[in-house]
Amino acid sequence: MTDRNELLFNESKQYIPGGVNSPVRAFGSVGGIPRFIRRAKGACIWDENDRRYIDYVCSWGPAIVGHAHPEVIKAVQEVAESGLSFGAPTEGELLIAKEIHKLMPSIEQLRLVSSGTEATMSAIRLARGFTKRDTIIKFEGCYHGHSDSLLVKAGSGLLTFGNPSSGGVPADFSRHTLVLPYNNVDAISKTFAEMGNQIACVIVEPFAGNMNLVKPTAEFMQTLRACTQQHGAVLIFDEVMTGFRVALNGAQSIHGITPDLTTLGKVIGGGMPLAAFGGRADIMASISPLGNVYQAGTLSGNPLAVTAGLKTLEIIQREHFYEHLTAATEKLMQGLQEKAQQHGIPVLTDSVGGMFGIYFGLENLPQSYADMQKCDGELFKQFFHAMLEEDVAFAPSPFEAGFVSIAHKDEFINTTLEKAEMVFAKMK
Ligand SMILES: *Cc1c(COP(=O)(O)O)cnc(C)c1O
Repeated sequence: MTDRNELLFNESKQYIPGGVNSPVRAFGSVGGIPRFIRRAKGACIWDENDRRYIDYVCSWGPAIVGHAHPEVIKAVQEVAESGLSFGAPTEGELLIAKEIHKLMPSIEQLRLVSSGTEATMSAIRLARGFTKRDTIIKFEGCYHGHSDSLLVKAGSGLLTFGNPSSGGVPADFSRHTLVLPYNNVDAISKTFAEMGNQIACVIVEPFAGNMNLVKPTAEFMQTLRACTQQHGAVLIFDEVMTGFRVALNGAQSIHGITPDLTTLGKVIGGGMPLAAFGGRADIMASISPLGNVYQAGTLSGNPLAVTAGLKTLEIIQREHFYEHLTAATEKLMQGLQEKAQQHGIPVLTDSVGGMFGIYFGLENLPQSYADMQKCDGELFKQFFHAMLEEDVAFAPSPFEAGFVSIAHKDEFINTTLEKAEMVFAKMK
């Protein structure tokens, strides 16, 4: 049988760089042929060979109610009949702004945009415009989209400014971005003590999910809030991944910390291009047309995306949604860890809400990017490919978190654990 995935991948490479429209999809860190997906339903995806996989990528987070949820699809189909985009305000935008404010009260006002990258980029510009300061702080291993200021990696030494982590980013831009180690309280305190009056904002993933799952300590989060408050800097929670994923009211509700600004994406679009940034009304007043910080978007607040988002936000508020999501995720993680350890494979796991991390070759749960670097990439690769052969699709990189949806019922979790047991036995 011809492998249509391979066929399409090879032809795509001729017309699309690397054959993909976002780099991780190319299977670069695991090798092999990415699956081209034809359709998805509930907890499963089907590739171009019509082979079915249990899916733990969930479109990198958005598919929290399961793929192609009938109510979401129906709502989008209905609204599509009335037109795809108007470039004028619509009632749906007001409804979703009110809904998000209800669920995350720290978001007094918000702007809708079309991607997480736009949300974080705009939030940073807003923080700089509001404080009239240039320097920003991010943390090593956190990802906030691909805008210039944020594609920066740590320089050498704790208090040095970052270096571009991508070609095409002027070193002059990265000069304004400080990169500190995640969970390092001293680095934060010291930086604010030395140059607090120059810092526009701190942007942080309140559970890091782009270096696999790394949880912050309570002390770290409290220090961020205290230092920013004391020095008049804006605290931005990048909840593009964690928002409505780790809990109904976001990571901020788990930590009990109120950020000044929050960025959202992924889940709020229910699979369509929708993201947002928002927070304190006095800060949001700096955005044009009220203030002098410019930000705009032709398709911002697109009616189809807003409809998919509103329906998704409705479904996740139904009774016991997060209890079930969390229980399924914990069952999967505990099962994987137990079965791996029974077969002598060094695996640790962790989760929060419907988001999880699987770590190969670590003795303790990771606290930072440096810890994550010690993971055993070869073991992960073996596990990833063996599971894919068993029709279970995990994220194709050891540095990505995984996701469970409400459609991952017991039968899927049990099947996954049975397959994992076989895989671990063979890895031994
Ligand atoms: C995915 C992600 C982004 C970028 O969102 P895009 O929609 O891919 O541009 C930003 N921040 C975090 C924390 C993310 O997980």
